[in-house]
Amino acid sequence: MDIIVCIKQVPDTTEVKINPETNTLIREGVPSIINPFDENAIEEALRLREKHGGKVTVITMGPPQAKEALKQAIAMGADDVALVSDKAFAGSDTWATSYTLAQTIKKIGRFDIIFCGKQAIDGDTAQVGPGIAEWLNIPQITFAVKVELQGDKIKVERLLEEANEVVEVPLPCMLTVVKQINEPRVSSLKGMMKAKKTEIKTFSAADVDADPLKTGHNGSPTRVVKIFTPPPKGGGEMLCGSTEEMVSSLISRLKERKTI
Ligand SMILES: Cc1cc2nc3c(=O)[nH]c(=O)nc-3n(C[C@H](O)[C@H](O)[C@H](O)COP(=O)(O)OP(=O)(O)OC[C@H]3O[C@@H](n4cnc5c(N)ncnc54)[C@H](O)[C@@H]3O)c2cc1C
Repeated sequence: MDIIVCIKQVPDTTEVKINPETNTLIREGVPSIINPFDENAIEEALRLREKHGGKVTVITMGPPQAKEALKQAIAMGADDVALVSDKAFAGSDTWATSYTLAQTIKKIGRFDIIFCGKQAIDGDTAQVGPGIAEWLNIPQITFAVKVELQGDKIKVERLLEEANEVVEVPLPCMLTVVKQINEPRVSSLKGMMKAKKTEIKTFSAADVDADPLKTGHNGSPTRVVKIFTPPPKGGGEMLCGSTEEMVSSLISRLKERKTI
């Protein structure tokens, strides 16, 4: 079983700051971590390998400092890692990012399952995993909360808002995982030693045969017109009294506003 996990290095903060002139995220001066959902993706890949055998390869597209995230993946137990990094990728939107990652996966060659996180905590689009599946023309299942390999098929439980859905697809496929799927393991001392010694291989745009018209800012169809934090909502009002009084007060207010 060949498993590929796509991870993204993200700022370790929920307070993402935006450069108002370039409309891009300010990453400088903020410590980085592996996107939390991607740690779940690594964990699930390792569990499948432990049960069924095979190899787990972790990849990331990012600047040279993203090697740190890959080292952490090795420390957790990944067999192999690769960074895909090139100035030509600067300014990539999710379309170009998923194209570049798909090209990298083609370069790696054999794969049965590709794992991604549900979404990245900075970009938050949840588009990259499905984008990779489209570029590779393979089935995809999002929001996986339980994964069970059944021969050349995979049975996946999806976490939806009101119910869980069970679906089955043939391999190879792409899955995105939610945090409820597992508890990511802590890196072992042996893993950390291995990570320290590992030379991280880096693929350039030429190495993955990336078409310059599909990468970087110029290859990205998305244009961010403006990013802004919406003003905080005004304070609400608590209705008091008995249930009947609160309901009647609510109804008269809704009528006043012509909502009902
Ligand atoms: C016009 C434009 C320009 C941009 N320019 C830049 C830029 O210059 N530099 C920059 O860093 N970002 C840039 N971005 C943001 C960049 O497109 C997104 O961060 C990136 O495409 C991932 O999208 P996301 O964060 O929403 O990930 P999501 O789609 O929410 O991520 C889902 C999952 O996909 C996988 N994944 C996502 N990104 C990667 C990755 N890079 N490597 C491996 N796996 C991944 C992970 O498994 C992740 O959990 C730009 C965006 C736009 C729209």
